[in-house]
Amino acid sequence: MFNRLATTIFHSLGGPPCFQIHGKARGETQWRVVGVYATHRRDADSRWPRNLFRGTCITWTAGVISVGWDFAECVLREQMSEPASRDRPVEVAAGRIRDRLRRADAGASPFASCSEVLAHECGHTWQMLRLGVFYWPIGGAFTLFREGPHWWNRFENQASEIGQFGGIVNGSVCSDLMLRIGTKKD
Ligand SMILES: [Zn+2]
Repeated sequence: MFNRLATTIFHSLGGPPCFQIHGKARGETQWRVVGVYATHRRDADSRWPRNLFRGTCITWTAGVISVGWDFAECVLREQMSEPASRDRPVEVAAGRIRDRLRRADAGASPFASCSEVLAHECGHTWQMLRLGVFYWPIGGAFTLFREGPHWWNRFENQASEIGQFGGIVNGSVCSDLMLRIGTKKD
């Protein structure tokens, strides 16, 4: 109930999402539709403070993920060349975004793709469903600690281990993002 209400509020404040995705945690049987909202505050070159805004993604509710426009563009480009699907979702390689050794040991690229980061955020949407209103203080505190071997890293570790990104919902990409992709060359 809390999630539905909070998601409705975000939708009404933020306008239409940049695109929608299929997301869930490994243990879930049903895919959920999650709105991805882009803001320039979260761009890598934003003047807003790092960790809180610049170059970061944040899961606000089980149905709302906020990202930078540059990140949204990166996800769309990756999905255009190698689309994920609900049958073949993107998961975080080796269950870690930042542990380069662990990723390399698993035969993955040491650097996580944007789609993997989005899979991590899908893990957070599941945590949000479980924790409801308590997600905000808990998530706000522990997200800053990132992944790692300690108990206070468990929140972030878990998001990387369970998150699944099942692709962009057909026809959901907003025209502003299409324009960004169309007018830029690699
Ligand atoms: Zn996280």
